[in-house]
Amino acid sequence: MKNLKFLLTFVLFVALSATSFARTPKYVFFIIGDGMGISQVYATEYYMGQVGLGELNFKHFPVVTMVTTHSASSLVTDSAASGTALATGRKTKNGMLGVLPDSTAVVSLSEKAKAKGLGAAVVTSDALVQATPAAFSIHCPSRKNTDDIALQQINSNIDFMAGSTIYGKNTSTAELIRMAREKGIEVFCGEKAYSPVKGKRVMYLSENPEEAVLPYTMDNKDGKRSLKDFTAAAIDYMYSNYRKGFFMMIEGAHTDGAGHSKDAASTINEVLNLSRSVDIVLDFYNKHPEETLIIVTSDHETGACTIRGSKLNLLENQNGSITALTDSLTLLAADGKEVTWSAVKNLLRKQMGFWDDIPVSKEEEKVLTALYKEAFLDFESDKEADLYHTNRKLAVEAVRYIESVSGLNFYSSSHTGTPVGLYVKGAKASEFMSCRDNTDIPATVSRVAGY
Ligand SMILES: [Zn+2]
Repeated sequence: MKNLKFLLTFVLFVALSATSFARTPKYVFFIIGDGMGISQVYATEYYMGQVGLGELNFKHFPVVTMVTTHSASSLVTDSAASGTALATGRKTKNGMLGVLPDSTAVVSLSEKAKAKGLGAAVVTSDALVQATPAAFSIHCPSRKNTDDIALQQINSNIDFMAGSTIYGKNTSTAELIRMAREKGIEVFCGEKAYSPVKGKRVMYLSENPEEAVLPYTMDNKDGKRSLKDFTAAAIDYMYSNYRKGFFMMIEGAHTDGAGHSKDAASTINEVLNLSRSVDIVLDFYNKHPEETLIIVTSDHETGACTIRGSKLNLLENQNGSITALTDSLTLLAADGKEVTWSAVKNLLRKQMGFWDDIPVSKEEEKVLTALYKEAFLDFESDKEADLYHTNRKLAVEAVRYIESVSGLNFYSSSHTGTPVGLYVKGAKASEFMSCRDNTDIPATVSRVAGY
């Protein structure tokens, strides 16, 4: 036993020494799962094991630690303040982007990379003007000022920007695309065969940028462009334009939305979706192992998610998000059609696996039928809104029930102040062992990458 302990300590020492003597990272990947707390990550890995999907790649990186996420104004941060902390190493108030609480701009990692003559890319599954991508590309005292954020992004020197869309409160997407093209940016809208001109800045949006967000991974049944396509396109572009080195931020945004909606199956599928982008980054790492640094973390936890049982595999029976279930319920009543309980039951069977694969208790059936009656017989309002979505109460209840029987529970529809995981691999990874707060991460990136 003693010998085994010695051997393990020795192996750990050799592994860590090897990373600290590693070369300065040229290629830095900063990957953020929005709202992806430790329970979300652990539950996903447990689920993967249960359904035969193997291991969650980043959970096995050589450096795994934890960081605090509080903002300058609250123990519970929003994505603007935490994005700013991750991009600049400085705390600010909730709602503020790339600026200190007194509105003074602070330099981000993207800007530091550009100042060194390297490339910078910002990739997200959300709209470019949302908090996380904005924190890595612009400076604005209010995250709500999307007109200013979009204009600053067009006028920034970020080489490659990819996201679902770009919009402003008072400026249309079409107008912003026109302005970006005028500025010399090549704008693509979901083209699969896309070939940017070398040296030109690129904005890569989804097939239909008029729709503000990409669908949840579970609902992307027709293979629309997704985070992994954006990631692959960004790596191709950055490596062919910036052999000297580049900084790339990649955000999987929808773990946050799934947490706000307390949708356990969507949460797991969004963590899985992020891991597919990590796979693509790992392919790049395998070609340039000495010069690549990969950081995976989160801006904050969403939903007070916790694991109370081990039947997570039951979530496999849910084959669409809470939003998709809401849409399907609405579709049942299209053109004023009369909706029967048996039609609703069939839908819950098909989309949630209820009765066939998920036993539904007598009490639960009572709750579901009462909600059905309220919505479709009494025509009472059955809407329930969270931060980003408005769902039908029947869908909210169905998702809550599968959550309770599987054991992956959400106790809040907001962000929490719980620390999040930090997973690091590659050149100088061991330097991140001492990170304790989210502001330590960019400070360490700047130090080890020489920004
Ligand atoms: Zn959120």
